[in-house]
Amino acid sequence: MRCPYCGSVRLYRHGACKPREVLHSWSNGRRVYLELHRHRWRCGDCGHTFNEGNELVQPHSRLTRQAEREALWQLKDRSFSQVRRELGVGYGTLRRLLEKETDEEALGLLPLEEEIFLGMDEHSFKHQELVHTITEVKKRRMLGILRDDRIATLRMFLKKIPEGKVKEVCIDMKESLRKVAEEVFPKAKVVVDPFHVIADSNRRMDEARRIEQDVYRKRKMKIPKKIFLIGQEKLNEEGKGRVAKLLAMHPGLKSFYRAKEKIRSFINKRVEKKQPGFWISLPLTLSQRIIESL
Ligand SMILES: [Zn+2]
Repeated sequence: MRCPYCGSVRLYRHGACKPREVLHSWSNGRRVYLELHRHRWRCGDCGHTFNEGNELVQPHSRLTRQAEREALWQLKDRSFSQVRRELGVGYGTLRRLLEKETDEEALGLLPLEEEIFLGMDEHSFKHQELVHTITEVKKRRMLGILRDDRIATLRMFLKKIPEGKVKEVCIDMKESLRKVAEEVFPKAKVVVDPFHVIADSNRRMDEARRIEQDVYRKRKMKIPKKIFLIGQEKLNEEGKGRVAKLLAMHPGLKSFYRAKEKIRSFINKRVEKKQPGFWISLPLTLSQRIIESL
């Protein structure tokens, strides 16, 4: 251990901190807390005092750094209220985590990695404008939350990443993101996150439903939305019957429904085999082929 102010190793015990509980991780839906018993130290050279364990938990935070990283990661594709409910982390804390735009520590570690798997997404954090987020997908770490969704801002950030080590760039289905990824990382494989593909096929399904509904508006008929977006295997017999009846009434929706189910089962079969928390990626060309076959 060294003094954080001057780097000296001439340190002396200077009492103990009050024991404190900090949220550290989650296991089977339960929160796991650590009770921290820490010492206070005094530097023999510069005289400053400090607490040990700052690499584990930031001063004044009630979450360990690991828990902060996980919460930030969860915010990537969940809403504030979902993350708050599921992780039991307050709104103020989540806001604070998002305000830090780039994780210098995570960026600093990148040159040490053998291989880097980047994720680039367009994201809107509740009622905010669109921004780009950059993540390390395998390590589940948020690297940067950019201030806006301009490609110039994104390109500038990406230049900080050691280009030769990037093996894969996982993007959502935006053409502009693909172009930047190919330009900045010419040696990397550009792939689409399969969950974006599922979301996209759901969106197409719902669009078709809305159009169909508009056509039938004159007959004052509403076509239900939710039942079409639920995976077929999750429906009970009654639900399956309802879908079949609706599709028979609106044959124009059939091909969208079939395509959506095909994509879901194709992806889910592959995701199931992988360890939880890490998604497999679908080559861009393959996902484009699936979409074009609709
Ligand atoms: Zn010192």
